Amino acid sequence: MGIRAVEKEYSHQELEKKILEYWGNIDLVHKIGFERRNSPKFYFLDGPPYMNNPPHLGHARTRAIRDSVLKYRVMRGYNVRLQPGFDMHGLPIEVRVEEMINSKSKRDIEKFGVERFIETCKRCAYEYQDRWTTFYQKFGLHMDIENPYLTLNNDYIEASWFFFKKAKEKNLLYRGKGTVAWCPRCETPLSGYEATDEYLDVSDPSIYIKFPLGNSGRESLLVWTTTPWTLPGNVAIAINPKFEYVKLGVGEEVWIVAQPAIPRLGEELPQLSDGKVLEVFPGSKLLGLRYHHPLTPKIPAHKKLAEKNPNLHTVVAADFVSAEEGTGCVHIAPGHGPEDYTLGLKENLPIFSPVDERGVFTDEAGDYKGLYVKNADPLIIRDLEEYNSLVYEGRIRHRYPHCWRCKSPLIYRASDQWFISIDPIKDQMLKANREILWVPPWAGSKRFHDWIVNARDWCISRQRYWGIPLPIWMCTNNSCSHWVVLSSLEEIKEKTRRLPLGEVDLHKPWLDRVVLTCPKCGSDMKRVPDVADVWFDSGASSWASLGYPKRKDEFEKWFPVDFITEGLDQTRGWFYTLLVEGIIAFDQTPYRTVLMNEFVLDERGERMSKSLGNVVDPLEIMDQFGADTTRFYLVSEAAAWDKIKVSRKSLENTGRMINILWNVYKFTTIYMSLDRYTPQSPGGEGLRLEDRWILSKVNTLVGDVTEAFEKLYLHQAARALREFIV
Ligand SMILES: [Zn+2]
Ligand SMILES: [Zn+2]
Repeated sequence: MGIRAVEKEYSHQELEKKILEYWGNIDLVHKIGFERRNSPKFYFLDGPPYMNNPPHLGHARTRAIRDSVLKYRVMRGYNVRLQPGFDMHGLPIEVRVEEMINSKSKRDIEKFGVERFIETCKRCAYEYQDRWTTFYQKFGLHMDIENPYLTLNNDYIEASWFFFKKAKEKNLLYRGKGTVAWCPRCETPLSGYEATDEYLDVSDPSIYIKFPLGNSGRESLLVWTTTPWTLPGNVAIAINPKFEYVKLGVGEEVWIVAQPAIPRLGEELPQLSDGKVLEVFPGSKLLGLRYHHPLTPKIPAHKKLAEKNPNLHTVVAADFVSAEEGTGCVHIAPGHGPEDYTLGLKENLPIFSPVDERGVFTDEAGDYKGLYVKNADPLIIRDLEEYNSLVYEGRIRHRYPHCWRCKSPLIYRASDQWFISIDPIKDQMLKANREILWVPPWAGSKRFHDWIVNARDWCISRQRYWGIPLPIWMCTNNSCSHWVVLSSLEEIKEKTRRLPLGEVDLHKPWLDRVVLTCPKCGSDMKRVPDVADVWFDSGASSWASLGYPKRKDEFEKWFPVDFITEGLDQTRGWFYTLLVEGIIAFDQTPYRTVLMNEFVLDERGERMSKSLGNVVDPLEIMDQFGADTTRFYLVSEAAAWDKIKVSRKSLENTGRMINILWNVYKFTTIYMSLDRYTPQSPGGEGLRLEDRWILSKVNTLVGDVTEAFEKLYLHQAARALREFIV
């Protein structure tokens, strides 16, 4: 067939519409799958976005990058898995629905009705899925949008439960008291990524207080804190045995601080520089000494604790005590900090956490009972003053963790939760990480490696509604508390006396109605009412998107994943949960290659956020510049792992380049049609010098682009193309 002359000017609206129609008519994505069905496999796993917001430009960047890689793989003859995924559960969606129904707390949700709430979350997630799908189509992605994996489907939920089954088998699933980050508004724990993602600048009290040693009342340990409300939970003071400590005579009193901390403390505590050095001694001399807690008269529970714990209110050693901050004597409250908690276990200290789910002091907090913890700060400071314990009171502006969904300041409190042990699999994870190809390499060898090294046990339970329910049933007889994991509907049908009425929906509240009989004592067993941390859902996608373990064929064909790409913050999120779950489920890394990409910032270089009002809508950019220009811009502007500042000028330049390409094409088609040229026309010796020159340039270009794609240096591929065209 001959080539027809193109007459029109470049119009992205017209051209892109035509191309999308054509792809639709020939059912391109399925056609590719069929053509390549016997080719070597390339399993791409889509990092599922949350269905609580429309896509932003950062999402567009990730998708421009990965779609280029996937199209490249298809062209190289691979059978590429093109399934999109959507993260349909989680607090982000719950919070969105709570806004819609005007809910302020869990009690409002219960009043609204859990069943109705779940239905509303479901509808909300589907609505966003539609919006995302439209975006995928307009953006020209090759994705099998008719067959996505949705984390809310019964099949997906059942498949994900396989993880709990394996974790129980391997003794890595346990119930325990843990001190975890907690949102007092959402009334649920947060962990890992959720608790580290949202640091905001806030003003807090900064106080120095004295804890008198023994009964002398003359010598005191000097302690600094920015959270006075955690002082009722104080059970020990930690020092660093490697430091020298100093006894300073200040007036009638003797204060004890770490020597290296003194120069830094002078500004807030001028008494120190005037103080007389009475003694310098190694910190180890303080270990085991008993001190008097100034607030004990207000908190009768301290007396009871002391009866059971002879080491209550004594000095202990901790490596994490630094000279860079505070006095070198650190207030320890295992019920209000994860580091303190670990130290508490080691030193056999009580875990005292007199704070309820809403962040309100309980009976155990004595005089402070009924107060929201942060509101108790001033009262506690006044009491310390009254007991002559307060040495200095000021304010500090610092970064403090907040709930990533509702922006409430987080607190740490101890509660009964379900955990996944990480220590026993840490070496296996580190080894697996070394087998993964990371682009850029430091993302794996440094950032991800460090995250794994420092990882604690994973608190996987959430006291919320819209999520994958924990498939754990526990005996209601307190003296028995036997528990089991049921990892499929099949198993549930087998073990329960009768299935609940209504359509099978493996969410709350349907699943809560499944009751079993305890094999140990014959009492009822009820489901643990918790749902899973939403990061669990996407972490199971490497096998759950394939329908494993119910279906074996797809799993055998595709697993493990060949390629994933997401934002760099996912070293704490998806990359991590994927690995933890893959190791526990299959003893191997579930993915082989990761391309990490950076954020897209606004024109001034600020992170885009709704509250700043600087979010750039990718659909708007596409309407103005066209999908091709937007994609080429996002891929070529910088290496995937470097930040991009949105620049309309760069977008215009990219548009100009595509225009040049079009005009060259238009020009040549005029002459090709006149000459009745076909792509099959003879070349070789008959060609003129300039034709041979351009063909040689094209071959070099093909080589450069291929090499860049193999290394996943897509920006280099795009730049080579740009240079060739312009
Ligand atoms: Zn919250
Ligand atoms: Zn029992």
